[in-house]
Formats: sequence, structure tokens, C-alpha cells
Amino acid sequence: MGWGPPAGSPFAGAGANATNAASGLPFAGIPSELRERVERELEHEPEHPAPEVEFHHVDPDPRPFTLRTFLQPHLGALVVAAVLVIVETVALTAGPFITRLAIDEGITPGEFDTLLAISLVYLASIVVNALAGRARIAFTGTLGERLMEQLRIRVFSHLQRLPLGFYTEEKAGRLMTRMTSDIDALTQLFQEGLVQLAVQALTLAIITGVLIALDPLMAAVTLLLVVPAMFGLTLWFRSASDRGYAAVRDRIADVMADLQEGLSGVRIITAHNRRRHNVVHHRNVVGAYRDANDYTAKVGAIYGPSTEAIGVVGQAVILLVGGRLVLDGRISLGDLFAFTLYLTMFFAPIQQIVQLYNQYQQGQAAAAKLRDLLGTPSAVVERADARELPPIAGGIVLEGVTFGYDPAAPVLRDVDLEIRPGETFALVGPTGAGKSTVAKLVTRFYDPQSGRVLVDGHDVRDVTLRSLRGQIGVVPQEPFLFHGSIRDNVAFGRPDASDDDVREACRAVGIDDLVDRMPDGLDTPCHERGVSLSSGERQLLALARTFLYRPRVVVLDEATSNLDLQSETKVEAALDVLLDGRTAIVIAHRLSTAQRADRIAVIDDGGVVELGTHDELVVAGGRYAAMWATYASHLGEERTSSTGG
Ligand code: ADP
Repeated sequence: MGWGPPAGSPFAGAGANATNAASGLPFAGIPSELRERVERELEHEPEHPAPEVEFHHVDPDPRPFTLRTFLQPHLGALVVAAVLVIVETVALTAGPFITRLAIDEGITPGEFDTLLAISLVYLASIVVNALAGRARIAFTGTLGERLMEQLRIRVFSHLQRLPLGFYTEEKAGRLMTRMTSDIDALTQLFQEGLVQLAVQALTLAIITGVLIALDPLMAAVTLLLVVPAMFGLTLWFRSASDRGYAAVRDRIADVMADLQEGLSGVRIITAHNRRRHNVVHHRNVVGAYRDANDYTAKVGAIYGPSTEAIGVVGQAVILLVGGRLVLDGRISLGDLFAFTLYLTMFFAPIQQIVQLYNQYQQGQAAAAKLRDLLGTPSAVVERADARELPPIAGGIVLEGVTFGYDPAAPVLRDVDLEIRPGETFALVGPTGAGKSTVAKLVTRFYDPQSGRVLVDGHDVRDVTLRSLRGQIGVVPQEPFLFHGSIRDNVAFGRPDASDDDVREACRAVGIDDLVDRMPDGLDTPCHERGVSLSSGERQLLALARTFLYRPRVVVLDEATSNLDLQSETKVEAALDVLLDGRTAIVIAHRLSTAQRADRIAVIDDGGVVELGTHDELVVAGGRYAAMWATYASHLGEERTSSTGG
């Protein structure tokens, strides 16, 4: 494996942006001051193929996630690991046995040649142990990393599949914990834990067998006196530390969630003077985490030294009982020596197994949480025989659509609506009436509980999500810019777009002058590290993004953020270009926007309560007319006050 960056990473390939764009990653390129050096380095780089990642809209592995189902495909590798473990353990536990031979066959009879030969065998056993250990650690380490890579991609892919509602309900901090602590717990388990558990269990079994073979009386003393004490202590430790670790995991999740909230809400926190309150709250959360850690540390502090004490008592008793047996001539000095050595080797595995059992439990707990996450159903399921949606004209029909995020409480009830190809159709109505919900059903973010959504006569459930969403552009209320260059952000929906296409899209929405003003043109990074754009400019960038892939239908959640007059004029001009000749569904928050639409639907009480052109609705004197009257009088007041002032 070379030292080059993996393909598709932010640093991959010369002209990183082109490569990133090609692999679909919107990340920023190399900072301009480093570019020359990086390009020089890259000349000596071998080509790395783009990673082969497949994304399915349906989970390709529907079985529940458990350690067993996860490890099953890697049975062969696990067998190799097991063989290495056996060789390593047998070589290690042979030590005291060889020592016994050395004492009884070499030292006691005074045969130096035998002693030499036995010493060489001892040396060989240690070499074998070391080599097998090295191979085992390298092998399971690599295996563990590979498993974790797969798991991370699997979880992330699943997150891409989940209903959007999931992200509002589940705190992002908790999701981060799933991806960090829980996956780390599994990493430890796979890399070391499971194999160590096997090593220690095998060691324990071999030693118990040898102890009994060496002398049943001494073995009985050990097993009856020492093991029960050790076992009792261990049981207590297990339950106490299980409880402790569960608390630690919950508390760290709380810390992460609080941190996430504190960081993302920092503006509101500052504005509402909640900084002190927040610090106090965070201190409490962190304090609870500290207490949980304190508890597990205390439990560990009792357990470790106590088991050592039991071990020493065991040694003393064996010295007495075994010494007596040697004096009586019932066992050899070599037997006693080997026995004592085995005894020292006996306690470590018991302790280790308990620790590892903890790790195993943590791994199981993590697996259970991941199982829940991976078991969360996808929002919409693509049919196995889904067809490609042919190029559409952009006619949209809702037929008897009933839908609720909670099926028991429908947001839309038996809604019929027809939007003609090429028309600009505005949805107005009170907040929470279901305007966005109509838009989400058209883009198939959700499926209705009953009724159908048709695009050019095709039921959206019959066509592939890719071909459907490829022809419907969504412009959200608050455009999200990804960490990356202006080009990456504009070409987000069509990463293979040429520079000329990107420039044309920028020109169409009127940000070409902005791009020209930037130090690096299209390569100028936006977001984070880069230049900060005004909210009007961000809007325009989002419009360019949609314009670039020329969808037939545009769903537009009108920005309510107060743009200055100049930006607003620019955004409106850009919208005229973007919507020209396309079907547009506009969630209109301002009636001035609705006024310009071809037709308007007023959404309320779970359905369309009024439908028509602006003029028709005003004349009809219904709800829209009332809204318009209020709006017009406000507008009038503003005019009077601005001319008066
Ligand atoms: P509008 O766009 O007209 O303001 P929405 O379509 O966003 O209204 O919401 C309609 C109703 O559905 C509201 O009562 C809202 O609280 C609820 N709602 C919206 N999104 C979700 C969601 N992801 N999960 C549960 N309820 C939701």
C-alpha cells in the first residue's frame, strides 16, 4: 500500500477539484499556497482507482445487525485467527512444563547436556510464541479495521436512506455517538477483545488440565479454595462495572448532545443571554459524566488489588501443601516449581476474561444500538421492478392523497390537485398547514398513506428515485453550502459538469460578477475556511446549483429571511430565469410571490380550500382575498410611512 492519499479524498489526484467532483465528493481542494507543492508530490504518485461504492435505496442486507450476522461472511479469516491463537497459546503455556523437565531431567540428575537441549527447546517455544503473536496481532488488527470500515460505510449509507423526519427527532449528538463511541467499542472488540477472549479462555483450559495432571491434590486445593473466591469477587465486579459502564455511555451521549446543541445554537444562546445558564447546565452534564467514571474507577480499584491478594494467598497455601508433598517424596521439585509457575499464569486469564467480558458487553450494547439504527426503516422503498422515469414535461397530479407523518393524524386528507406542465404554482396558507408536505410528497421524500402522486402520468412509486429526483430540483428556504469551492457547490447535483456549464449557470442567475471578483474564481472556497457569502449570494448560489442540472420541475421554498432590496431584486431576476419554461411549485411565504404565480392554491384544514389565479381569488372574496387585503393595507401603510418620513 502506498502512502498516497486514498482516491476521492480531499487531496486526491492532481487538479483535486476535478477528481473530487468526479467521485461525487463536494470537498474543498488544496489551499492555493500549497497547491504547487502538492502537485509536485503527486507527479510521483501511482494512480488510485476511485473507490467502488454502491448505494442502494433499500438496505441490501435486511437481516438484523448482530455480532454473528456481521462476522459470518468473515468465517475464513476468523479460522486463521483461531489457528494463530492456538499456536501462540500452546507455545506460551509450554514454558512451565519445559522448566519442570529441566529441573527433574537436567538439574536434579546433574545432566548438563539434557539441560542444554531442554533450554534450547524453551527458547524455540518462546520464538514460536512471539512469531505467532506478531502474526496474530497484525492479522486481527487489519481484519478489525476492515470490518470497521465496512460498518461505518454501512451505517452512513443507512443514514442517507432514513426519512428526513428522523433527523429532526433524533438529536444529532446522539447520532455522532453512534458513529464514534459505539463503533469504537466494536473496533476494540473486533481488533483485540474477541481474540484475547479466545487466548485467555484457551490458556485457562490448558492450565487447569495441566494442574490436574501434575497433582490432583494440589489442583483440588487451588480449584476449591482460590477459584471460588476469585469467582465470587469477579461476579460482583461484573455486575457493578456493567452498571457503571452503562451509566458512562449514557452520560457521554448526554455530553455530546449538550455540546452539539450549545455549538449549533450559539447565536440564539447569546441573543437570549443564556450563556451562564448554559455553562451551569454543561457543568452538570459533565459532572454526571465524571461521577459515572469515578464509580467505574472505584469498582476497578477494589477488584484489581483484591484479586492479587487472593493470588498471593493461593501461592502461599500451595507452597505449604506442595512443599509437604515434596518432603514426603510424592511429587518432584520440578512438579512443585511447574505448579507454582502455572498458578501465577492462572490468575491473569481469570482477571482478563472478566475485563474482556466487559468489553464484550459494551460491544454487544453498541451492536444493539446500531441494530436499532440500522433497523429504522427507510422513508420510501424503491420497487424492485422500478422503471426509469422518461424525460418529463412536468405535469403533476395528486389523486386522493392522504398523508400524515403520524398516520393517525393526517396532515393532508384526500387531496386532489393538478399542476400543469410549465406553470408556476404557488402554495399559500398558514404555518403548519401542509404546504411543505405537498412538496415533500412530489419529490417522494415520503409516500402517501392512500392516493397517488403522478408525474406526467407515472406513479412516483413505480419509477426509480434517481430518475425522479434527477428531474425535480429542490431549492430550500435556507440554502446549505457544503465545505468546498464555489464550483463544487454549484456542480453539487451534477459533479461531472464542465467549467463552462458551471459558469453558464452562474451567469444565468447573475453571480458571474461575484465569481469574477473572487481571488480564485470558481476555485474560491466558500463556507468555513473560505469567504463568507451574504444570504442573498447564498440564495443565488443555490439557484445556480438547481439551474445547472436543468430539472423539469422546481420545488422552491421561498426564502423568508430579509434580503436587502438589491439582493431581493437579484434573487427575483434569477428566479425568473430559473423558472422560465419549467413547472414550479413555490411555497410562497410572501403574497407578492404568490401574486406573480400562474395559479395559487390555499392549503388549510388538511386540503386545498381555494384554487385559482390571483385575480380570481381576490374577486372570489374568500380566504385568499382576506389575506391579500391585510397584506395590501400593510403595504399601503409602509408606503405612507416611508413617503411621510
Ligand atoms: P407548512 O409548510 O404549511 O408550514 P408543513 O407541511 O411543514 O407545513 O407541516 C404540516 C404539519 O406536519 C405540521 O403540523 C408539522 O408540525 C407537521 N410536520 C412537518 N414535518 C414533520 C415531520 N418530519 N415529522 C412529524 N411532523 C411533521
